[in-house]
Amino acid sequence: MKDLRFIYGTESIPIPERMNEAVIEFNIKGNEFNEKFEIARNSNLKYENLKNRKDNSWSEFKDDFIKFTGGRCSICENTVNKYDDIEHFRPKNYYWWLAYDYKNYTIYCDLCNRTYKKIEFPLFTDFKISFENRDKIEQEKPLIYNPTTDDPTELFELEFTKFASWGYKLKIKASSFLTENNYLYKKADKTINLFNLNGEIEDKNSTDTDTRKRNSENLFGDLYDLAIFFGKFKNNPMNKEFEFQFFNKLKIVRDMKKIDLVKLILNGNYQMLDNNNN
Ligand SMILES: [Zn+2]
Repeated sequence: MKDLRFIYGTESIPIPERMNEAVIEFNIKGNEFNEKFEIARNSNLKYENLKNRKDNSWSEFKDDFIKFTGGRCSICENTVNKYDDIEHFRPKNYYWWLAYDYKNYTIYCDLCNRTYKKIEFPLFTDFKISFENRDKIEQEKPLIYNPTTDDPTELFELEFTKFASWGYKLKIKASSFLTENNYLYKKADKTINLFNLNGEIEDKNSTDTDTRKRNSENLFGDLYDLAIFFGKFKNNPMNKEFEFQFFNKLKIVRDMKKIDLVKLILNGNYQMLDNNNN
């Protein structure tokens, strides 16, 4: 889960220092883009009527998002490749006036985009934004994690299960601090299921699914080690070796591999189960 709340430069979470300039440039470009397409954004014409055949003008934001996410998918954090395109958080087919709004963009990997989300946009309540009430967008309650507004540590936690001396399994779950059936719980749960984040749904796209599974195993291996080192360091903050192990691993996973799920570990949103049930 990428945490991109810094990209508009308006949220309370700080902009990572190395991103300062990129954030400013991104928003200047974004505002110019929105102005350029203002007519489209205020038009009652559906997306099909608005677009010309080769319209993918939003692709100019792709490099920005790759920079902001470290080249990783906003949802599953696997690497995105050159074929992956800008994702419209609110699908342009239903929310055509947001097709040209840069604040509706993010980046997904091909699997999250084309196999899982497609044009789905589940909501918690029936209140659905339409062109006529588009100024009330804040009141709509999407059931998909939004990397540009949602705090991953509020929604998710990790569960590591050690099932043999050599193996472990990682599950992403809705945070146990959330009340079942309330909005945020449902949002976390729906996101996990819709995107098949725990690989529980067998599907047709087996090549991509296998690739993701392998990538995820690497990702999860790193997170598992980090959680172990974090635990040791937390319990023995004066132990220099534990300190080194932890910060060294943190540097690799967060700064080099750009994995934001690290935030869940640093926030204590994880459990380590030790049992022999699968
Ligand atoms: Zn993905």
